[in-house]
Amino acid sequence: MPPFDPIAAQTHTRRPNWEPAFVHPEQEKAAKALLDHFKNRRKKRPNFLVYLMDDVGWGDFGCYGGGIAVGAPTPTFDRLAAEGLKLTSCYSEPSCSPSRATLLTGRVPNRHGLHRPPMYGEPGGLQGEITVAELLSTAGYVTQAVGKWHVGENESSQPQNVGFDDFYGFLSVSDMYTEWRDPYFFPEIAYSEARTEWVKNMPFNRCFVHAKKGGKTQNVEEVTIPVLSLLDDKWCAYSSEFIRGMANKDQPWFLYHNTRGAHFDNYPHEKFLGKSPARHPYKDTLLELDDVLARLVEVLRETGQLEDTLIFISSDNGPHMETWPDSAFTPFRCAKGSTWEGGVRVPGIVYWPGTIAAGRQSDGIFDFNDILPTLLAIAGIEDGLPSDRFIDGVDQSSFLLAPNSLSNRKFHYYWLTETFSALRCGEYKMVLSATSDDATDAFGPGGFTGVLERYAYAKLFNLYLDPKEQHNYMTRKLAYVDAFQHGIRHHLRTFAAFPPKKVMGVAQPR
Ligand code: CA
Repeated sequence: MPPFDPIAAQTHTRRPNWEPAFVHPEQEKAAKALLDHFKNRRKKRPNFLVYLMDDVGWGDFGCYGGGIAVGAPTPTFDRLAAEGLKLTSCYSEPSCSPSRATLLTGRVPNRHGLHRPPMYGEPGGLQGEITVAELLSTAGYVTQAVGKWHVGENESSQPQNVGFDDFYGFLSVSDMYTEWRDPYFFPEIAYSEARTEWVKNMPFNRCFVHAKKGGKTQNVEEVTIPVLSLLDDKWCAYSSEFIRGMANKDQPWFLYHNTRGAHFDNYPHEKFLGKSPARHPYKDTLLELDDVLARLVEVLRETGQLEDTLIFISSDNGPHMETWPDSAFTPFRCAKGSTWEGGVRVPGIVYWPGTIAAGRQSDGIFDFNDILPTLLAIAGIEDGLPSDRFIDGVDQSSFLLAPNSLSNRKFHYYWLTETFSALRCGEYKMVLSATSDDATDAFGPGGFTGVLERYAYAKLFNLYLDPKEQHNYMTRKLAYVDAFQHGIRHHLRTFAAFPPKKVMGVAQPR
């Protein structure tokens, strides 16, 4: 038999409401043996820690080509990548809320309806969706969310109402709490009593909060600039206490830890201020994010839970280049807000000592929507997937766990708000629509700026020969057209049976 090839190979459809997936029987057997070994040895189901950063670039980490080369060493990320699995084709959505909702629901934005982030108290969020936290909670997991939420401030979308036992963090996004307080960015508000009052009367909560399952949020503290600089430290302490508290419990747990950094604007903790070789707030914040992860891993080790816990480390989108210099680095085209690779190709490190072999790397496609079915499969509850809605994620447990294994995913679908933008399979990407790079801005490559272009003929890029997507290869590679168009048609047809949803920009309960 010829070696497996993702373009030539066929997927299998297990259920009509599941994304078709590759089946690799040998690696599934190997993954099952590893999980059986784990269960026999540890006598409980594995814990999950998702460590999600904000707007951190693919190229910020040493293990992805950045680190000391761009003025901020990342020893912890580099070590965990070396001792675990480093993914080089891990995909988020183009911006914060679409990505976070996709990770939590296993669905593309055109299904969960968060096509763009809600801002300044705008209603709408995850209400009505089924999250990975809810499914794990139903199966006996203790579920904890810490840090940035940003998938709905309205009550029915808050974490304690969509599957988390406890939440400690803020409901929106970093800049919203501070930008109008800072005279450098908003002198016309900061120096105006009338406008400051006007912002304070907007319908968003200026505090970070605590909530318990089914309850109301309690304000912890107003997020002023000095408080903001302490948030990653405070949130790390809260997650550390949670991990310590779970050490002697029988139940497994899911910790969804979302950092404040390094979303603009960055005001680093004094311990890290000016400490990066770059001596820049963004880079100092990278040092802190690396240190926070080191502290969480150390608590896992101290409490004997390191080998019980799968850790997934990523960023919710590509770097935000329009907020330079509070921005980052990517070797790919464009940035956050776009469906060019720079907007959606994010770091992806999977670490689970004793189960995932050290030193693995893979360019197999992994999508944020794979998290939900993959964690359920590792927890042994894959049959808990809902049947009344389409699940875009595929079970990647054998890909993550088994040595020398292959991705179970054939296609990555790129959505730019409500527009289908592109399809990747293997090293090729077919682009139907995308944002133009911003020709009017001499300082950045765009991302949220530029116009939406719909091409008369699709463009085809070879991401191995052309990671910056500059050379349209279509007319020399027509052999791929039919297969790629078939993949696109199949995906778009699923919306006939499972209609799209739109949450942002339409009337929602507050
Ligand atoms: Ca983000």
